[in-house]
Amino acid sequence: MYIQRFFQSSSLRWAWRFAFLKHIQSGYQGTCRWTHFGGSTYKAVIFDMGGVLIPSPGKVAAEWEVQNHIPSGTILKAFIEGGENGPWMRFMRGEITVQNFLQEFEGLCSQMSKTSVPVDSFFSLLTSERVAKQFPVMTEAIAQIRAKGLQTAVLSNNFYLPNGRSFFPLDRKQFDVVVESCLEGICKPDPGIYKLCLERLGLQPSESIFLDDLGANLKAAASLGIHTIKVDDPETAVQELETLLGFTLRVNIPNTRPVRKTMEIPKDSLEKYLKDLLGIQTTGPLQVLQFDHGQSNPTYYLRLADHQLVLRKKPPGALLPSAHAVEREFRIMKALANADVPVPNVLDLCEDSSVIGTPFYLMEYCPGVIYKDPSLPGLEPSRRRAIYTAMNRVLCKIHSVDLQAADLEDYGKHGDYILRQVQTWIKQYRASETSTIPAMEKLIEWLPLHLPSQQRTTVVHGDFRLDNLLFHPEKPEVLGVLDWELSTLGDPLADVAYNCMAHYLPSSCSLLRGLNDCDLTQLGIPTAEEYFRMYCLHMGIPLIENWNFYMAFSFFRVGAILQGVYKRSLTGQASSATAEQSEKLTEFMSNLAWDFAVKEGFRVFKEMPVTKPLMRSYHTWVPAQSLLTPMGTRSYCSIPETPPAHVSKGVLVISPEGLSPPVRELYHQLKCFMEQHVYPAEPELQSHQASVDRWRPCLLMEDLKEKAKAEGLWNLFLPLEIDPEKKYGAGLTNMEYAHLCELMGMSLYAPEIFNCSAPDTGNMELLVRYGTEEQKARWLVPLLEGKARSCFAMTEPQVASSDATNIEASIREEDCSYVINGHKWWITGVLDPRCQLCVFMGKTDPLAPSHQQQSILLVPMDTPGIKIIRPLTVYGLEDAPGGHGEVRFENVRVPKENMVLGPGRGFEIAQGRLGPGRIHHCMRLIGFSERALAFMKARVKSRVAFRKPLVEQGTVLADIAQSRVEIEQARLLVLKAAHLMDVAGNKAAALDIAMIKMVAPSMACRVIDRSIQAFGAAGLSSDYPLSHFFAWARALRFADGPDEVHQATVAKMELKHRT
Ligand SMILES: Cc1cc2nc3c(=O)[nH]c(=O)nc-3n(C[C@H](O)[C@H](O)[C@H](O)COP(=O)(O)OP(=O)(O)OC[C@H]3O[C@@H](n4cnc5c(N)ncnc54)[C@H](O)[C@@H]3O)c2cc1C
Repeated sequence: MYIQRFFQSSSLRWAWRFAFLKHIQSGYQGTCRWTHFGGSTYKAVIFDMGGVLIPSPGKVAAEWEVQNHIPSGTILKAFIEGGENGPWMRFMRGEITVQNFLQEFEGLCSQMSKTSVPVDSFFSLLTSERVAKQFPVMTEAIAQIRAKGLQTAVLSNNFYLPNGRSFFPLDRKQFDVVVESCLEGICKPDPGIYKLCLERLGLQPSESIFLDDLGANLKAAASLGIHTIKVDDPETAVQELETLLGFTLRVNIPNTRPVRKTMEIPKDSLEKYLKDLLGIQTTGPLQVLQFDHGQSNPTYYLRLADHQLVLRKKPPGALLPSAHAVEREFRIMKALANADVPVPNVLDLCEDSSVIGTPFYLMEYCPGVIYKDPSLPGLEPSRRRAIYTAMNRVLCKIHSVDLQAADLEDYGKHGDYILRQVQTWIKQYRASETSTIPAMEKLIEWLPLHLPSQQRTTVVHGDFRLDNLLFHPEKPEVLGVLDWELSTLGDPLADVAYNCMAHYLPSSCSLLRGLNDCDLTQLGIPTAEEYFRMYCLHMGIPLIENWNFYMAFSFFRVGAILQGVYKRSLTGQASSATAEQSEKLTEFMSNLAWDFAVKEGFRVFKEMPVTKPLMRSYHTWVPAQSLLTPMGTRSYCSIPETPPAHVSKGVLVISPEGLSPPVRELYHQLKCFMEQHVYPAEPELQSHQASVDRWRPCLLMEDLKEKAKAEGLWNLFLPLEIDPEKKYGAGLTNMEYAHLCELMGMSLYAPEIFNCSAPDTGNMELLVRYGTEEQKARWLVPLLEGKARSCFAMTEPQVASSDATNIEASIREEDCSYVINGHKWWITGVLDPRCQLCVFMGKTDPLAPSHQQQSILLVPMDTPGIKIIRPLTVYGLEDAPGGHGEVRFENVRVPKENMVLGPGRGFEIAQGRLGPGRIHHCMRLIGFSERALAFMKARVKSRVAFRKPLVEQGTVLADIAQSRVEIEQARLLVLKAAHLMDVAGNKAAALDIAMIKMVAPSMACRVIDRSIQAFGAAGLSSDYPLSHFFAWARALRFADGPDEVHQATVAKMELKHRT
C-alpha cells in the first residue's frame, strides 16, 4: 500500500527526474455505451449544426463579405429582412430549390446593399469541405457524452444541395437522432420541430439540453422546458455543458488536465507564435491542456485549428545550469529522427523567453498506445512477447546510432560512464545519508571493485522503460520513444539493466510497476535473462555475462536517489509516516541491488580458473575402532600439512582437511555430534522402528534434532549457488557439503537429525528455486524449521515410471482450481503424520509435446481425496514413520496458485530437483560404504576361523583392498561432480551426475555385500546396520531412476560429445 503511495508522491518523481510525459493519445473509445450518467439527470444533448458543430453561416458570411468587398452584414440583414417567408427560411423548410434560393436571395441582398452580391460564391464557401468541418472540441464532447450513456441529437435548420441531398457534413454515426428542417418541412424556432426531436429521442423536454447560437431558437426550446446553452464560442459552450452534465467532456487526451494555476502560459503570444510558425490564419481558439506528469519540464497539449502539438518547456524560476535542458532534448530527438529511431517529430525550438517566459520546444502530438502496466493485461501471450521484442529492438536501434553521422559526438563524455555514475551516486548518497544501511555500505565497497572491464559508448536514453514508449494501436511497433530528459552518451548496458528493473519489483509499485509476482511464462513475457540475451542477439554482440553487475548498479542508483528523497522528506513537509516508509523503500532497493552483487560475485567465483595444481596427495589409515563406535574414519595426510585457508574455493578439495577453516570446523563439529549422539542412539532408534509405535515420530529423534539445531548443524544441504545470502541454510558449496553429507551417510538416521534427508531436501530446494513468496512462506518455512515433512509423488504402478513422460495422473483445470486424479506408489515419506506437503507430478496437457505435458503442483496432505492404500516394504523394511506409500488421488482439488512455475514446466522442475538430490544420495552411499568397510575390518581382525584371524585370508584381504579402491574411485567421481556443479552449474555437470548415479549405488551394494559376507550370518541380521545399508543401497539403484537410465544418459553423452 505504502510503496504505491510513496512511488506516486510528487517529491519522488521530482527527485528522480522521471519526467513522465504521458502526452500521448492512448485512449481508444470503444463502441460500448456505459450506462451511468455522471450524476446528472439529463439523458440527451441536442446540438444545432451551423454555429455549434460547424462554423456559423453568420461568421462565414462576415469573412466572405470582407474578402469580396461586400458591405458588412449584408447576408445577415437579408436573412432577418426576409423573415418567416423569406427565401432563407423557405429554403430551410425545403420549399424551394437551390437555384430559386440563390436567385431570390441574391436579389434581396443586392437590393439591400445596392451592389451586386454573388450569393452563389458565398453558398459554395459555406458548403465547402474546408469550412463545413466539425469543431474537434465538439467531436470530443459528443464522444464523451455517448461514452457516459447519454443520447445525442442534431436539430438543424439545413437545406438541400444541388445534388438533391441535404446539407449534412457530419458523421451521422455520432448521433442517435438527426432532425433536418429541409426534410421535415418545419424549421426552428417552430416548437413542432423540437417536439419531433424529443419524440424521436423518447424523452421529456427537461431531460435534454439544447445548444444553439441563435437566441430565438434557444428561447423556443426553453419555453418547452428544455435546458439551453447559448453558443458563442464552442470551447466555452463545452465548459458550460460540462458543468451541467457533471463530467468532463475533453478528456480524450489521456493524462491531461486543465493547466495548473501556477503553470499557466500566455495564450495570446503563444497563439501568435504558432500561427506564424505553422502559417495559419484560421479562427478557432487555441486549446491548451497540461499533462499530469512532466513536473520536471512542464508539458502541454496544444490544439490550434487542425494542428495538435506538444509543448515542453523549462520550469519557471532559478534553475541549476545543467538541469531541465530542453535544448538537449530537442537536439537528441531531431538527431535520432534522422537516424531512423522512432521519436515524435520535433518542429521547433524557441529559446526566446519572451514568448511564454522560458525556452520551449514543440513536437507533433502523436496518437498511439502507451502500456503502463508491464504485465500487459488483456493481451495474448504472443502479443506480449512481440511488444517486448519490439521494445528490445528499438533499444538496439538507439544504441546503434552512429554518433559521428548523427553529429552527437559531443552529446556526453566518452568512456568510464559507469565509474562516473557510481562515483556520482556514492557522493549523492553520502550527502543525504541519515543512518547506516548495511547493503548500501557493501555496495559502495563492491561496485567500484567490479566495474565492467569493457564499456561501449553510445546514446543512452537514461529512463528507458515500457511506459516511455508509444506503440502502434494495432501492431507491436514502437511509434515513438519519449522522455529524453536523462539522455546522454554512456554505457548502453545500463539502459538494458534499467529496462529490466520492473522484472524484480512488485506489481504494487506504481512508479515503476513491477513483474516479480507474475508468471512470465504464462504471460509470454521474456525473463530478464532472456531479455538480455535477446538484446545481445539483436545487437550481434556476445552474451553479457556480468549483467548482474548492471542490475546491481541500477538498483543502487535508485536506492541512492530514494535516500535523497528521504532526506528531503525529513526536512520538508512530508508526513512522518511518509518519511519513515521512504527509508524502508531505500533499504528495499539497496537490498535488491546487493542480491545482484552477490549473484555476480558468485558467477565470478564459478568462473575462477583452477589456478593451483591439485597438489594434495593422501593415503588412508584407520585407527583401531571399537565396534560400538564403528565410525569408518577417514583421514588424510596432506602435503602441505596445513592447507591454505582459501583452498576450498575454486579447487577440488578431496579431503575434509582441505576445506576452508570454517567448513572444516563444521565438519569436525558434525563428526563429534555423530560420535557423541548419533551412533549411540542407533539401537533405540532402530527398536522404535520395529515397535508398534513406529508410525509415530520417535521422541529420541526429535530430541536429537533439537540438539543438532542448537549446534547449528541444520539445513546444511542447500547449495550456496541458490542461497548465496545463506538465508535458508549453511551456505556450503556442493563440494563442501559432499564431505559433510558422506559423514551423515554413516548412519541411516543422521540425515533426518540434521534436517538433511530426502525427500524434504529436494522439495525444499524446489521451493527455494521455483516457489513464489507465498509458497515459500507456507511450505518452505515449516520444512526448514523441521516442523513439517513432505513427499514427492511421481511414480505410478501402471506405467514404467523410469520414463517420466509416461506419467498418467491428470491435473485438470476447473473453475479456479486444479483437480487431480491418479494412482501413485513408492511415495517416500507420505505415511509420516508430519507430512504436510505432497509435491505432485501429473499431466496438465496430454496433447502438448512430451516434455511439456507434466506440471508440478503443491498439494496439502489434508486435502480431501488423498487415500493412502498401504505402506510398501524394501526387503521387508518399512522405513517408518515416513515409509513408502501407495496412494490414490481422487478428485483432489487444489487452488491454482499451488502450481509451481506454471503448467507444462514439471519436467524441467523435476530435473532441477533430482540433480542435487541424486548427488546427495551418492554422497551418503559413500558414507554407508565407508562404515561397512570399517565394520568389516574390525570384524575380520577379531574373528578367527581355521586357526587364524579372517584378516589373514587372502580372499578377505582382496575384498578389503577391492572395497577401498572402489570407495575411493566413487568418492573422487562424486566430489568431481559436486565441484563441477559449483563451478559450472548443474547442467554442465549432468554427465558427471549421471556417472555417479550409475557408479555409487552398485559400488555400495558390492562393498556392503562383502562386509556382510565377512560377518557371516550376523551380517544379515539387524544387529548391525549392514543389512539395512544393503537394502537402501539396492533400492537406490531404482530410486531417482534405475541404473540403466543413467547408463543410457552417459552413453548418449559420450557418443555425442566425445567422438
Ligand atoms: C525405496 C524407494 C523409494 C522411492 N521413492 C520414491 C518417491 O518418493 N517418489 C516417487 O515418485 N518414486 C519413488 N520411487 C520409485 C522410483 O523412482 C521408481 O521405482 C523408478 O523411477 C523406476 O520406475 P519403475 O519402478 O516404474 O520401473 P520401470 O520404469 O518399470 O523400469 C523397470 C526396469 O526396466 C529397466 N529399464 C528402464 N529403462 C531402461 C532403459 N532406458 N534401458 C534399459 N533398461 C531400462 C530397468 O532395469 C528398470 O529397473 C522409490 C523407489 C524405491 C525403491
